[in-house]
Amino acid sequence: MVDKVNEAFDRAIRSLENVDENKIRKELEELILNYKVPVDQAVTTVVRKYGGEFNQSLERRKIISIGDEERGVNVVGRILSKNERDIVVEGEERKVFSGTIADDSGAINFTSWKEFPFQKGDVVKINNAYTREWRDQLELQIGDYTDLQKGQDDSVAELKELTSPKKVSVNDVGDVYAAEVEATIVDIQEGSGLIKRCPKCNRAMRGEECQEHGDVKGNPDLRIKAILDDGLGCVQAIFPLELTEDLTDISLEDAIKKAEDALDRTVVEKEMKEIIGKTILVKGRLIGNNFLVDNFSNPKWDPKEKAKKLIEMV
Ligand SMILES: [Zn+2]
Repeated sequence: MVDKVNEAFDRAIRSLENVDENKIRKELEELILNYKVPVDQAVTTVVRKYGGEFNQSLERRKIISIGDEERGVNVVGRILSKNERDIVVEGEERKVFSGTIADDSGAINFTSWKEFPFQKGDVVKINNAYTREWRDQLELQIGDYTDLQKGQDDSVAELKELTSPKKVSVNDVGDVYAAEVEATIVDIQEGSGLIKRCPKCNRAMRGEECQEHGDVKGNPDLRIKAILDDGLGCVQAIFPLELTEDLTDISLEDAIKKAEDALDRTVVEKEMKEIIGKTILVKGRLIGNNFLVDNFSNPKWDPKEKAKKLIEMV
């Protein structure tokens, strides 16, 4: 608890000038220790009371330029998705909002620890947010300090434009809401091929067990976890059932039969390695560390270029 007071004191002092520091500390102690006020709220209360202004620049940032562990971040963006869930913090139930917000430069996931009265499609002005990395992905954090206002609708591109896939390098798939990349499959990872999913939570099982539900009778599924490389970087891409069937020409039925014949599930994964070296165009979204593929196609080669290459080979 004393740590909390120290943290609050450091933060409050940064935003105040010419104040009696002992008095500030006492007030914070009272709020946090006696009244159990959360740190953020205690700092806000004291800073406002003593006429301080939060150290923040009013500069509007392009979402693509935002980095990890930044403070005082101001953005104007359109909500692409929004979810809410209940969590328990220090014994108290709280609502947490999360989703994705985008401007014309890129997209970023957000988490709001305070009421977030906006819907998908709304333009929101967010002042004094901060960032943090979560599962290797940058997140905009909206805390008690952050100011939220409805923004002008025409200050950000339309929803349709923001959510359409953008052609990017593999390195930048996390900066856009939906990405299109042309890359080569350089590896098929373990956990590809014929897998079983827990009937309760749908998670891929290890052997005959779900990590959470133990011994269950799993449902068969096919997937590929592939490493895609475009020469500039690489990313782990997940192809769901239908796309896996298309890409490998192995149907779920075939796969089950092959595994039964060989008395070994991993034969399917081994056979899928044949697609290593294939170059494809994929569209999808980065979620956590994984690029979830929505669809793929073969790259359209320029016929003249192809002819030239053939001639050179001859
Ligand atoms: Zn399960």
